[in-house]
Amino acid sequence: MLFEFSMSTLDFIKECQEKVFSGIVISSEDAEKLFNIPDVNLKELAKCANEITRDFNGSKVDVEQLNNIKKNVCSEDCTFCGQSAFFDTGIETYQLPTPEEIVTKAQKAKDEGAESYCLVAAWREPSSRDFEKVCKIISEVNDKVGITIECSLGFLTKEQARKLKKLKVKRYNHNLETAKSKFSEICTTHTYEDRLKTLEIARNAGLELCTGGIIGLGETREQRLELALELARLYPEEVTINMLVPIPGTPLELQTKLSNSEILRMFSVIRFLLPESVIKISGGRETNLDDSGEELLQSGANGIITAGYLTMNGNEAKKDLEMIEKIGLQA
Ligand code: SAM
Ligand code: SF4
Repeated sequence: MLFEFSMSTLDFIKECQEKVFSGIVISSEDAEKLFNIPDVNLKELAKCANEITRDFNGSKVDVEQLNNIKKNVCSEDCTFCGQSAFFDTGIETYQLPTPEEIVTKAQKAKDEGAESYCLVAAWREPSSRDFEKVCKIISEVNDKVGITIECSLGFLTKEQARKLKKLKVKRYNHNLETAKSKFSEICTTHTYEDRLKTLEIARNAGLELCTGGIIGLGETREQRLELALELARLYPEEVTINMLVPIPGTPLELQTKLSNSEILRMFSVIRFLLPESVIKISGGRETNLDDSGEELLQSGANGIITAGYLTMNGNEAKKDLEMIEKIGLQA
């Protein structure tokens, strides 16, 4: 969509930035205009987003490591996911490891400078038996390692959410994945509303929220804006943006990559909408970006996942920490 700007584009971006600094929430109309600024002004948009990040969050980068505690054969049909039982991806399968194994990995993550450790499970929701096992794992990591724990365990009941809070889990991750208008194309075994409901349950139990999605699924720019506005409405403590990694065997294996400038737009506009949140560059950082995230960390983002993802390897923690230092930020 093309917009007529009554003032210069740069003045408009600056005016929006001023609103953010004055505590005024950016309207959906302004967000739409920011999202559609001409390419020639993209650098200014990114620069202003960076100034908002520094003002609200300083120069600290939130570095997180993940542990995929249950891998593959998930009952759901999310078309991007290499762990869905619907697709033959040849990815290894395992059930929950012992608490000792997870304690060792969490200690390693802490020693490598990770701020938080996220336990992720490839299932729709935990069975009662598995949930008890996960609780045991969390207790052991709390006792023996002492690192901030986050979880991403699919749908939760109210009781389960309360139990996680009791175990000092700080933040619950559950992604919206894409715009509401796109969701039924990427998943038929559950709905967007199911995902919103779990976020509400987690919030009501007192857990901080981490939510976001994947860009590059074939959605339009308008749909990326739709997702950004929904995230802004939820006002999560953390936003996590993945860039699709096309997994062989999934329906999206041949999906073409988004351009780096389109990705930059998304991160910059989310920063205008959510000045205080951690905005994390998640899966696909190494494969989609030309510079492993240096530009995005200076354009709105202030978090990364390091040392690999759920089914893919990533940069080593040391390399990422060096990159953060090189651009004048702190891990
Ligand atoms: N099964 C739970 C769920 O769906 O909420 C737990 C987390 S799921 C395994 C982790 C997240 O990884 C997904 O929500 C999605 O955003 C991201 N993800 C999965 N496959 C991806 C891919 N191929 N490229 C980029 N991100 C991906
Ligand atoms: Fe299952 Fe989560 Fe993958 Fe969907 S994203 S198939 S729910 S593991």
